[in-house]
Amino acid sequence: MNEDLRRRIEAAAAQENVILASDFDGCLAAFTEEPMDARPQPGTIESLREAAGLPGVTVALVSGRELSVLRDLSGVEPQEPIILIGSHGGESSAADDAGGGAENLLTDEQRALLAETDAALVAIAEQYDGAWVERKVAGVVLHTRTMADQEAGERALAQAREYGLAHPELHVMSGKCVVEFPMLRATKGTALHLLAAATGATVTVYLGDDVTDERAFEVLEPDRGDVSIKVGSGQTAAVCRLDRLEHVPGVLAAFVAARRARRP
Ligand SMILES: [Mg+2]
Repeated sequence: MNEDLRRRIEAAAAQENVILASDFDGCLAAFTEEPMDARPQPGTIESLREAAGLPGVTVALVSGRELSVLRDLSGVEPQEPIILIGSHGGESSAADDAGGGAENLLTDEQRALLAETDAALVAIAEQYDGAWVERKVAGVVLHTRTMADQEAGERALAQAREYGLAHPELHVMSGKCVVEFPMLRATKGTALHLLAAATGATVTVYLGDDVTDERAFEVLEPDRGDVSIKVGSGQTAAVCRLDRLEHVPGVLAAFVAARRARRP
């Protein structure tokens, strides 16, 4: 970890009320061929648990995965004080009591749109060897990571984006080897914003690796002490970068150490 990042983490950890949040895939967990095999790297969930146990710290996982899947893969139990935010901000474990089941998230219109979009993506996937469609409670995703021919994969993704352009009622999110159509307009940015409002936190530390994490980086304010950390390569609005996800455990541990060393 470079000196600039260390200084920013220490300054954030010194604030009275702070949020430590991270994306799951590509940050806490390495990508796996089978998405359900993804598990947190050693030292990540452990540090997040430690941080969540310290006064004045709110810890959240913010993922595009469905909330229930994020819970299974992360191993975070419902009684633990770690907030899980799924579906790119569409679902939050902090709102479980009020919101009812995830299926209640959508209106009848959105449900119909979801079924229609699902059928269109399945029709695209059928033309490409190895492409597949993931149906979520509040969205549908075309995946091409498992395709042997990545040029064909790009064509499949382009076809899905074209479908989105032809249907202006749809919200399109492009990521690495994925095009997703979320039925909810929540983003990881709105999720972080709501979390800060709900907790009264003045500073947020956020780690993310993908295009959808840019929505989170964009709402953060480095001048105010927020720390946005892009994991991996590519254009970003984040102020800090980690070249490899193997460096994530060290950053989380540094936050915990700095928080423990803080004098109230
Ligand atoms: Mg990710």
